[in-house]
Amino acid sequence: MNHYDVIVIGGGHAGCEAAAASARLGAKTALLTHKRDTIGVMSCNPAIGGLGKGHLVREIDALDGLMARVADAGGIQFRMLNRKKGPAVRGPRTQADRKLYRLAMQAAIAEIDNLDVIEGDAFDLALTNGRVSGVITADGRSYSCAATVLTTGTFLRGLIHIGDKKIPAGRMGEEPSLGLSQTLLRTGVALGRLKTGTPARLDGKTIDWDGVGRQSADDDLVPFSFLTDSIRNPQIDCGVTRTTDATHKIISENIGRSAMYSGQIEGIGPRYCPSIEDKIVRFGERDGHQIFLEPEGLDDDTVYPNGISTSLPEDVQAAFLRTIPGLEKAHVIQYAYAIEYDFVDPRELTPALALKKLPGLFLAGQINGTTGYEEAAAQGLVAGLNAAHLAGGRESYHFSRTDSYIGVMIDDLTSKGVAEPYRMFTSRAEYRLSLRADNADMRLTPTGERLGLVGTERWTRFSAYRQEIESGRELLQSLNITPSEAANFGLRLNQDGKRRSAYELLAYPEQSLERLCQIWPEIGSLPHRAASALEIEAAYAVYMDRQRADIVDARREEEKVIPPDFDFGALPGLSNELKQKLKRFQPVNLAQAGRIDGMTPAALSLILAYLRKDS
Ligand code: FAD
Repeated sequence: MNHYDVIVIGGGHAGCEAAAASARLGAKTALLTHKRDTIGVMSCNPAIGGLGKGHLVREIDALDGLMARVADAGGIQFRMLNRKKGPAVRGPRTQADRKLYRLAMQAAIAEIDNLDVIEGDAFDLALTNGRVSGVITADGRSYSCAATVLTTGTFLRGLIHIGDKKIPAGRMGEEPSLGLSQTLLRTGVALGRLKTGTPARLDGKTIDWDGVGRQSADDDLVPFSFLTDSIRNPQIDCGVTRTTDATHKIISENIGRSAMYSGQIEGIGPRYCPSIEDKIVRFGERDGHQIFLEPEGLDDDTVYPNGISTSLPEDVQAAFLRTIPGLEKAHVIQYAYAIEYDFVDPRELTPALALKKLPGLFLAGQINGTTGYEEAAAQGLVAGLNAAHLAGGRESYHFSRTDSYIGVMIDDLTSKGVAEPYRMFTSRAEYRLSLRADNADMRLTPTGERLGLVGTERWTRFSAYRQEIESGRELLQSLNITPSEAANFGLRLNQDGKRRSAYELLAYPEQSLERLCQIWPEIGSLPHRAASALEIEAAYAVYMDRQRADIVDARREEEKVIPPDFDFGALPGLSNELKQKLKRFQPVNLAQAGRIDGMTPAALSLILAYLRKDS
C-alpha cells in the first residue's frame, strides 16, 4: 500500500492550494482527483478576484499559494474594482482565459516537490482507532496516510437541474461523488443541501457585438501576485447588455417550470449570486438586469453571459435569450443549469478546518458551505497547512479575524455556520482598514515564513520590500516643515508654528506624495510600490491607531483558549439551550464562544470565570 503523510481528495481550487501548502511544508502529499486534465477547472464564471475575493487571493499569495500567480498567467482583463473608493475596499479582479488558467494551475502543481497526482474516484476513508488512516478508491485501490483533506466541491451527491430534467453529476459531463457522503454520514456529521447555478454558454461569433456596450481592462494592469512584475497576456473587452421587458415576461410566464420554483430543488442558493428568475421574483421587473458578456478565452469563441444563470428548461432559455439586445441570434453551446450538492455544517470544524468528529480529516471549499473559487482556495491553504502539521506532529495553526480575511471567513464559518452559500465581502471584516488587499504580504508573509509555507524567492523579495518601506517611512518622518514655509508651496495649515513631517502631512485631505515632491524632490526616488503603501499607511495612521487598540482586545479574547474537554454542562446558570449549543460546537476560544448565536455577555463571563478557575 502506498503511504503518504497527507492525501488531498479533489483537484479543484481548494484541493490545489491544500496539496501545494502541504507539500511546501515538506509533507509527502498526494492529490487524488478524478482526472488530471480537470485540475484547475473553473466550473462557473471565468474570473478571479473581485470585492473581498481579491483580498483572499492576495492573502493566498502572501502565504506563497498558487492562485494569484496562476491568475496572472491566465488573466485577460485586469481591473481594480472600487478604484475611486478607499484602498480598504479596492478589489483586484481579472477575467481569465479558462484554458490558460487551467494549464497554468496544472503546470504549477507539476512543479511542486513532494507532490504526486493520482487519478481516481475516492469512494471511502479507511479508519483505524477512530482516526482517518487512508483513502479507498472506487476501483479498489488503497492509500494510507496520516491526514486527509476532502475538497470535493459540488460533487457530493451532485444533481443537475434543467427545468424538470435531473442529471446526477458533479458538474456538467462529470460523474458525481457518491461514496463519501455515506462515509461522512457514518461519522455522525449532519449533511445539508445547497444549490448554485451557471448561465448558458454562447457562441461569440453569433453575438451582435455592435449592439452591446463595452467594458475594457484598466490602463495600468495591477497583477494579483506580489511576485508578478507585469502582465503578458493581451487584454480583451467584455460586452454589456441588459434584460428587457420581453425577457421578464417570458420568465414570469414560465416561472413554474424553473427547477427552483417548481419545488424540485431543496437546496438553498447564493443570495448574492441569484438566478435570473430569482432576480425577477425578488426585485420585480425593474428596468432590466445587467449582463456582462465575458469571452472565455483568447482563442475560444465561447462567451459566458454573467448575470443570467437559471434552472429554466431549454426552450424557455432559448426564447428569453432572443429578447436580449445583442443576443437575438446567439447560438447556445451549452444551456444553463442549477446544481444541488451536499455540504457539511462548518460548525463541525475547528478553525484549523479539522472535522471535530473524525480526527485526521480536514475539509475545505464548497463542501463547507462556501461558494467561489477564492473562498475555496483560501480554505484549501489552511486545511493543507494543518493537515501537514498534524502529519508532522505539529500544533495546528489558526488565522485570526484580526490578521486576515482568511481568518474572518474561517471564524464566520466555524462559529456561525451557513444558512446559504457563503461568499466573502469586505463588509464581513471589522478591521478592514488594516486588512487591505495592498498590504496582504506585510500582514501574512512573515507568518507564512515562520510556518515554513514561504519559499526563498518570495522571502527575499518581501524582505527587500519591507526594507524599502522602513527606509521610506524614516525619510518621510525626517522631512518637516513649518506652516509658514508650507504656505509658500500653497499648503494651508494651522498657523500654530508646529513643524509637521511629510508623513504627517499625508494625513491631510487632498495631500499626496506627488504634491509633496514639490517641497522635497527626494521623495520622488521612493520605489513605486513602497511609496504608494506609505501614502495609504500615513493617510490612515490615526484610524489605524484606534483600530490597533480594538485588535489587541480581540486578540485577548482569542487567547482565552477553551480546552476541547471543557464541560459546558457543568456550568451552573447557563441556559440548557446555550449549554447544548456550546457542547455541540465546542468553541475553541472565548472569542468564538461569543459569536455563537444567542450568546449573552453574562454567559461569557461565566465561562471566563470557570476557565480561570480551571487554569
Ligand atoms: P471544485 O472546483 O468543484 O473541485 C472539486 C474537485 O474534486 C474536482 O476536480 C472533482 O473532480 C474532484 N472530486 C470530487 N469528488 C471526488 C472524489 N470522490 N474523488 C476524487 N476527486 C473528486 N461560484 C461562485 O462564486 N459563483 C457562482 O455563481 C458559481 N456558480 C456555480 C455553478 C455551478 C454549476 C458550479 C458547478 C459551481 C459554481 N460555483 C460558483 C462554484 C465554484 O465553482 C466553486 O465554488 C469552486 O469551484 C469550489 O472549489 P472546490 O475546490 O471546493 O471544488
